[in-house]
Amino acid sequence: MAPKSTKPKDFKEDFWKSKDIKISIGDIVQDEVSGESGEPVEMGPTPKPHVTDLREWDMKLMDRYEPFYAPFCDMCCLCTYGKCDLTAGKKGACGIDIKAQQARMVLLACCIGAAAHSAHARHLLEHLIEKKGKDFPIDLGMNIDIEAPIIRTLIGKAPKTLGDLREAMDYMEEQNLHLLSACHTGQEGSSVDFESKALHAGLMDNLGKEIGDIAQIVALDMPKGDENAPLVEMGMGTVDRDKPIVLCIGHNVSSGAGVIDYVEEEGLEDNVEVCGICCAAIDITRYNQHAKVIGPISKQLKFIRSGVADVIVVDEQCIRTDVLEEAKKNQAKVIATTDKMCLGLPNLTDEDADKIVAQLINNQIEGALILDPDKVGEVATKVAMQIADDRGMLKLLPDMDEIQEMAKECTECGWCTRVCPNSIPMMEAVMGASEGDFSKMEALYDNDVCYTCGRCEQECERDIPIMSMMAKIGENKLKEQRFNMRAGRGPIQDVEIRKVGAPIVLGDIPGVIAFVGCTNYPEGAQDVAKMAKEFLERNYIVVTSGCGAMTVGEYRDEEGNTLYEKYSGDFDAKGLVNVGSCVSNAHIPGACIKIANIFAKKPLEGNFEEISDYILNRVGACGVAWGAYSQKAAAIATGINRWGIPVVLGPHGTKYRRLYLGRTDKEETWQLNDMRSGNVVNGEPAPEHLLYAAENREEATVEIAKLCIRPNDTSKGRQLKLNHYIDLHKKYFGTIPEDVYKFVRVQKDIPITYKKDVMDILEEKGWEPRAIPQEPSIRDFKEEPKKKANGK
Ligand code: SF4
Ligand code: SF4
Ligand code: SF4
Repeated sequence: MAPKSTKPKDFKEDFWKSKDIKISIGDIVQDEVSGESGEPVEMGPTPKPHVTDLREWDMKLMDRYEPFYAPFCDMCCLCTYGKCDLTAGKKGACGIDIKAQQARMVLLACCIGAAAHSAHARHLLEHLIEKKGKDFPIDLGMNIDIEAPIIRTLIGKAPKTLGDLREAMDYMEEQNLHLLSACHTGQEGSSVDFESKALHAGLMDNLGKEIGDIAQIVALDMPKGDENAPLVEMGMGTVDRDKPIVLCIGHNVSSGAGVIDYVEEEGLEDNVEVCGICCAAIDITRYNQHAKVIGPISKQLKFIRSGVADVIVVDEQCIRTDVLEEAKKNQAKVIATTDKMCLGLPNLTDEDADKIVAQLINNQIEGALILDPDKVGEVATKVAMQIADDRGMLKLLPDMDEIQEMAKECTECGWCTRVCPNSIPMMEAVMGASEGDFSKMEALYDNDVCYTCGRCEQECERDIPIMSMMAKIGENKLKEQRFNMRAGRGPIQDVEIRKVGAPIVLGDIPGVIAFVGCTNYPEGAQDVAKMAKEFLERNYIVVTSGCGAMTVGEYRDEEGNTLYEKYSGDFDAKGLVNVGSCVSNAHIPGACIKIANIFAKKPLEGNFEEISDYILNRVGACGVAWGAYSQKAAAIATGINRWGIPVVLGPHGTKYRRLYLGRTDKEETWQLNDMRSGNVVNGEPAPEHLLYAAENREEATVEIAKLCIRPNDTSKGRQLKLNHYIDLHKKYFGTIPEDVYKFVRVQKDIPITYKKDVMDILEEKGWEPRAIPQEPSIRDFKEEPKKKANGK
């Protein structure tokens, strides 16, 4: 039943600040209260779960969703016994088989991803504590009481200050260490245990992201769940090229914020352009909306080659490691700002800012490592202002005649197309350019069909500068490259959850779809925006983050509006919610956790399994990482999976080596324990898979709709969900899906529009109605079940 009032309780803030409650329950000392009711709650069974504490849950997930391995590489070269050939049932010298080895590589990827997010979070946290003090309050405003759902669930406490976040950080770092250790030769030998550890690493990744985002939201005063967060300018065409330009690339907002602060302090807002690529761009605009977003990671080489940036500030993650070499080509200066990426540059952190500026503009150094964000701001701005005029005189890209001449060098060897991750017809485009027809190259440039990874250029036997040609051809359409994106709003408000909790759990809102992750798209960026549009038009809640959020903003509909202009930022049906950067992804499982707590009153503290079981069986959410490429994306998806949320990847996702696929032919796999009646009942494959890779947008769209079906749907909700599933299947494949009968429990589940077609299929399959569980679960009963499925 929906709560009667959505008015937040107003006694809580004072209550939290003025009391230090300690409640003793048996030998458990509890110093917190849980979200909605304000009542003290007992600590659940798994506070601060260690590597093996949630193993039983993982095994339950894997019983249903068997790991499916696509060996991307069937050799192992991790130690000096190797290389070992693991094909045809052979084991490595250490005894490991191909299955365990693939799972080990998945764990390793998740450890790397989790480490990237959590090291980022640790850096941010300590930097912000230094600036604001450890007692700086975690206050997300009146509409958010459950400020840190992941921390509450895993650590068993609510953090009240920045300093409190250190406890969760310490816990996570310890777990990450144990997990990475398991990757060493001669440790774990079982593929399922590697998987369980990978799921733990994913969970730690989710925790690290929540710590990082909460810290930056409160300390840097970023939007706090604001559904009306402003639209920010985006696209290469939004940058004023006549001004000095500082470009920030990466994920850590500290140095970008340092630039913004300096520009503001000196009153230079109208004189200097500050822009960003990748999540750094999102977070800078959460900090200050005057900064501009160039776009996702796919814009990196295009923009650097264009030579528009005078100074490139790099922090961490997803930055081209040859950024210094690329910057040198057009005399831009690079400032490295974190220990993760020093680029061989001299560490001038303790040097006087003006002396660093002098060394950079006099070309005594190629760039500098500066680990102090405030100094980065001063140096970057001063250097950009001093070199911009001279750089403006440089001819940075070939003109169109030169491009034609360069293209004539092409021998038609075909290697550019062959090495392209998407087999893009670059050779044809180059040949076209050699005849003065640039339209084919333009078509590849548009919508990031070519995401300028640069592999083709590397391989070209005639050293044709394909990327520079692309950058120039793109420049011709700069005016069209003006888009926008709603600034990342951070968490979902508790009041919003109160409103949508019931419709989501009962199925009236057909699903929550989150488009996250990178730009390794198989056929350009528009696919993501088209999927988002499809689901928005169908009343789903659509959430975005990271490069996915930017990609969605780069699409304009028939009337010329971006989806952010067309749809509200409410977490409600037809809402398009940009939570923010990669670290803001934490708010997506966070919203699902809040549904379990606020709507269903499930206690969070130390209660991971019950919460995840609730999400798996009742919250119709689905993640989509269509362009996932990084280890971070592997960790994000794996963590999301452990909470019981399915994820759809694009075709490149199979290179992660492992999917979690459900077997619809094994009916016993889908049996459910009805916790209310005490009976075991037959269920449906819902969600059918936990990690699925689709080949194209059409397949993904249909699968996403199907993956929002949950055993808990009411008949009205199931009708709605099936209606979308059937409708999309008809739209993209021209037929009613044959497996629809599996999702019909009783006749009332059948969508009215498709009644006849579905009834025909039911008849053909010999369908019989079955009981709808009242409290579906895959967890064990505390006692023997009253009745088993099929009356046994
Ligand atoms: S870790 Fe094992 S499989 Fe890999 S190279 Fe060493 S001995 Fe071979
Ligand atoms: S830059 Fe990369 S994506 Fe673009 S055509 Fe070349 S290889 Fe393909
Ligand atoms: S690799 Fe270079 S030479 Fe070969 S087809 Fe491509 S552009 Fe032409």
